Amino acid sequence: MIHFRRIGHRLLASVGGVVILGIVAITLTYAMRQEKVSLQQNENALGLVTDSVAEGLAALMQGGHSKVAPDFAERLNKVPNIIDYRIIRTDGTQAFVDNLTFERVKQRNDAFEFIPRSAEPVTVVAATNPSLERMRKTGERIFHYHLKPGGERLVTVFNPIPNAEHCHKCHGKDERLRGAITFTVSMKEVDANVARTWQLSILVIAAALFGIVSLIYWFAHRTVVSQLNGFLTAMEAVAKGDSSVRLKATRRDEIGDMARAFNHMNENLEETYQRLREERNKLNTVIYNASTGIVVTDGAQQIVLANRAAEAILERSADEITARGFLDLLDDPEWMQARLGSDGEPATPGLRGWKGRTLSVHASTIRNSVDQIIGSAALIRDITEEKRLEARLEQQAITDTLTGIFNRRQFDEVLATEFKRWKRYGQPFSVMMIDVDHFKKFNDTHGHDCGDHVLAAIGRVLMEISAPAQIPCRYGGEEMIIVMPGVVEDEGMKLAETVRLRISQLVIDGLQVTASIGVAGLPGHEAKDGDSLVKLADDALYVAKEGGRNRVCRAKPA
Ligand code: GH3
Ligand code: MG
Ligand code: MG
Repeated sequence: MIHFRRIGHRLLASVGGVVILGIVAITLTYAMRQEKVSLQQNENALGLVTDSVAEGLAALMQGGHSKVAPDFAERLNKVPNIIDYRIIRTDGTQAFVDNLTFERVKQRNDAFEFIPRSAEPVTVVAATNPSLERMRKTGERIFHYHLKPGGERLVTVFNPIPNAEHCHKCHGKDERLRGAITFTVSMKEVDANVARTWQLSILVIAAALFGIVSLIYWFAHRTVVSQLNGFLTAMEAVAKGDSSVRLKATRRDEIGDMARAFNHMNENLEETYQRLREERNKLNTVIYNASTGIVVTDGAQQIVLANRAAEAILERSADEITARGFLDLLDDPEWMQARLGSDGEPATPGLRGWKGRTLSVHASTIRNSVDQIIGSAALIRDITEEKRLEARLEQQAITDTLTGIFNRRQFDEVLATEFKRWKRYGQPFSVMMIDVDHFKKFNDTHGHDCGDHVLAAIGRVLMEISAPAQIPCRYGGEEMIIVMPGVVEDEGMKLAETVRLRISQLVIDGLQVTASIGVAGLPGHEAKDGDSLVKLADDALYVAKEGGRNRVCRAKPA
């Protein structure tokens, strides 16, 4: 099976093949038919000739001139182009040269006068000759074609002479045939005619072959191949990204439809590209003007975009960022890689100090629909201010506004934590409860604002003395409490004494106050929770008040 790479060749082979086969078949049929007709015509002509000769012979015989018959036969032999002309009997021997027939006729018809011939019987064709036998059998004219030494074709006609009624008188009516006229002529002219017909046919076939092949080739090229080549060129251009190509779409056939569909497709493509470009520009504008730093890479980790915010946050130009590369965005490739995640590890956002500020970094790997990595992106935010505000809020949440020490809420947490530590690890801790003496009266005498100044001043003293290990808190009203982790009651008593002294030395707006303090610590007491310990300190405080104020009292031992 031959495979053609080109449509034109395939068309040529299929359509051309069928048409040529048709033409060859028609021409060959015509040539063969012509050959048959020529032979038939030749045979008809030869038949006519023999019929005429037979009629002539019959006339001679009927007229009783049988003695001139040999001469008649002899003359016929001299006709040009006739190679051999004879009158024979049905057994193949030549008639009119011996006495065989005379003797038989004499037995029937005495009236005839015969001039006896001297010759012996002459055999012209063997009695067993197949053509002669066929003629005898069928009683019809037989044509026998054969070759002369040298190649020339000859035809020998065996034309039967029927035993007609007018023959019966001399020859009886037993035999069906009297004999035959045989003659041989050359087929040279007929064969030359046939050969010319064949030559002409082959010439016609060759001309048709050339004409049809050229026509089909031209037609196929014009209607299909050149159009397809046009499509091919246009499609290659589109594949390279040029969707502005258009095909001539003037034809009304399928090729024209294809060209129109192609043009329509390209128009849609161009429109889509245009829309995509607009969308991309929009996105780029958004990205470039975003307050978040954005850095994007391509599939080969090459940075393709670093927006203005990224430049400002990293304090580097886009070119510098690009030159350093994605993993070196914050001068720490390992840290950056951990943000991106790797080998099944998910990406984790992170915070990082950068030039005195805090940056929040979200990085991610970007994949396409078939899970191929097509790039990475990092979103970088400067959260220094946020962090500061957050810390301030946190501080505010646990600080007492007036005194600056921790508030009650924080105290509760600290107390619970320290009690847990004591329970779990046996770590000692103490609390001292401080209450300003006769503060109600102070307020009443000097005003509430003045009272506030006093509380603020005491707060400052407590912070000063407590730093950094102790935790001073405002318990409520003018009561304050210091939690002292790791401090046993004895030491707590000493610290309380210092506190008491410092408070008593304070001079606020020219005024002075004193405070009483109760101390309780673990170990040394039975306390089921932190509050129980505070209660013990409070009880001790009560004792201090009772004892005359401006003093420190230890909780009653268990
Ligand atoms: P004692 O010596 O027994 O403690 O006498 P005291 O007057 O201090 O009695 P108590 O502790 O019961 O009185 C607390 C007073 O503290 C009542 C209130 O007027 C005052 N006080 C509570 N909170 C504040 C505050 O935030 N600012 C001011 N200026 N006064 C407060
Ligand atoms: Mg009080
Ligand atoms: Mg008081």
